[in-house]
Amino acid sequence: MNTLAAPQREDADVEADVRMAGGLLAEAETLYYTQPAATLRLADEALSLAGPLPMATLAAARRVRGLALSFLGRHAEALDELQAARGLVPPGELLLECQVLRALAIASDEAGVLDVALDWGSQAAAVARTLADPVQLASTLLSVGVVLSKGGDPEAGLVQYREALALYEQAGDPTRSVNVLNNMGINCKNLGRHEEALQHLRRAIEIDENQAQPGGARIIAGLNSVEPLLALGRRDEARAVLAGVVPAAQAAGYPNAECFGLVLQGELQAADGDEAGSRRSLERAAEVAAQRGAGQHAARVHKALWALHKKAGRFEDALAHHEALHAAERAQFNEESDRKLRALQVQFDLARARHDAAMARLESARLAEQTRTDALTGVANRRQLDERLRDEYARAARHGHALAVAMIDIDDFKRINDRHGHAIGDAVLRDVAALLRLHCRDIDLVARYGGEEFCVVFVEASANDALRACEAMRAAVEAHDWSAVEPQLQRVTLSMGLAEREEADGRQALLAAADARLYEAKRSGKNRVVPGVQPGA
Ligand code: GH3
Ligand code: MG
Ligand code: MG
Repeated sequence: MNTLAAPQREDADVEADVRMAGGLLAEAETLYYTQPAATLRLADEALSLAGPLPMATLAAARRVRGLALSFLGRHAEALDELQAARGLVPPGELLLECQVLRALAIASDEAGVLDVALDWGSQAAAVARTLADPVQLASTLLSVGVVLSKGGDPEAGLVQYREALALYEQAGDPTRSVNVLNNMGINCKNLGRHEEALQHLRRAIEIDENQAQPGGARIIAGLNSVEPLLALGRRDEARAVLAGVVPAAQAAGYPNAECFGLVLQGELQAADGDEAGSRRSLERAAEVAAQRGAGQHAARVHKALWALHKKAGRFEDALAHHEALHAAERAQFNEESDRKLRALQVQFDLARARHDAAMARLESARLAEQTRTDALTGVANRRQLDERLRDEYARAARHGHALAVAMIDIDDFKRINDRHGHAIGDAVLRDVAALLRLHCRDIDLVARYGGEEFCVVFVEASANDALRACEAMRAAVEAHDWSAVEPQLQRVTLSMGLAEREEADGRQALLAAADARLYEAKRSGKNRVVPGVQPGA
């Protein structure tokens, strides 16, 4: 065994790594929402396995990593990570692509950039529609629906939810059906469609209770049904729902739900004239809100208590709750502006990243172009000529197409330089190049061969077509008004030699044939084109 070389990893080791990574990611997948820090560790562990993991596994690992970062509040990093994951998805891996796009939608939503989230969500849905996977499609539509609803369009959200629900039901997925029905209830409530809201919420509860292990639908959907019931004047039913839901929320350890239930109960009791009951409910709500950081409903609690104490003439207490109300509103405002600022920051980072990427692309295109064009005249340089001629020659030979090449040299150019100076010489070179370009087609290539010599490749052009173009070029340079370049400069002429593919064996021979005819053009008096085969001969 060669002890100097690094030990070769056996295929079996690599397979074991891939299996191991798969296991870590499957575990991470179930945790990102509730335990993002643990998810991040698992994804890092998967990524640090020694073997060369397949692209799909790398993409999957970075996807979970991105989701974890998102739920840790590290939004810009999360979006970067998910973009990287997207770049790693192998072509044709549509399920993975859909999952990564949906993760981008979720992370953008978390970051508060709803329009971006919507964009990713729509892309995910388009991919999901090509998969025969109703649950994947439904989950994607659910994400899009959530974003639309948050963005203030509950009607559009409902459209997505309805389709998602049909798919979940078709797939026999009661847990997710319950979630969608609850969201549908909230949207209908926000749209003032109370009867419809109650229908959805009731169905959510029914489905949930028919399960072996019911989730929290009786609590969550029940709470959501209280306001629609009150709006419809069905106060007894609202009371009955709250009487069941509040203790259930407490028992289940849902502080936000318990707090909200207590507020609703307190408000209802106050409206019923039950001052003592209302005070009990609301003070308990304030306790829950304060104790467990379930401050979501704090402002509403203190507002109700303020009104209650004020009405009873207890001004000291009223004042205390008035202050607490303001503190809660300020906290809410701060949280809201933090979220908006963060969204702006992420949007700005995204825009900058896009801008940077576009600039980098442009710069590398510019550099690539620079290495392929002649700086003085802007036409192709020798390198581009070599590449194009090699390709065009091979293509023409393969398909039996015509191909012609002209070598061009400015007559007595030395004299132009000597009489008018090098700068005027340069200007003449630029104008000649422009005139050559003007008198050939876009697919033809004009190149500066060196000094005052040019070469034109006529693609798929017969000897006659090429000759006509060369004549046009020669005549154009001769007839050009050079006084704009230099008043004393009267005349510039070209000599040209033309050769076509069929007469030469290889592209070097083709150039040599054209060059020989250029020499002939010079020798026989300049300002002329010497073609290969005399037309009509
Ligand atoms: P002929 O008709 O036989 O081609 O004569 P000529 O004077 O054009 O030929 P020669 O090859 O002797 O001269 C070419 C001149 O082109 C010499 C060189 O100084 C000049 N030249 C080469 N490159 C450049 C350039 O980039 N700018 C300018 N102004 N002159 C250049
Ligand atoms: Mg010359
Ligand atoms: Mg020359």
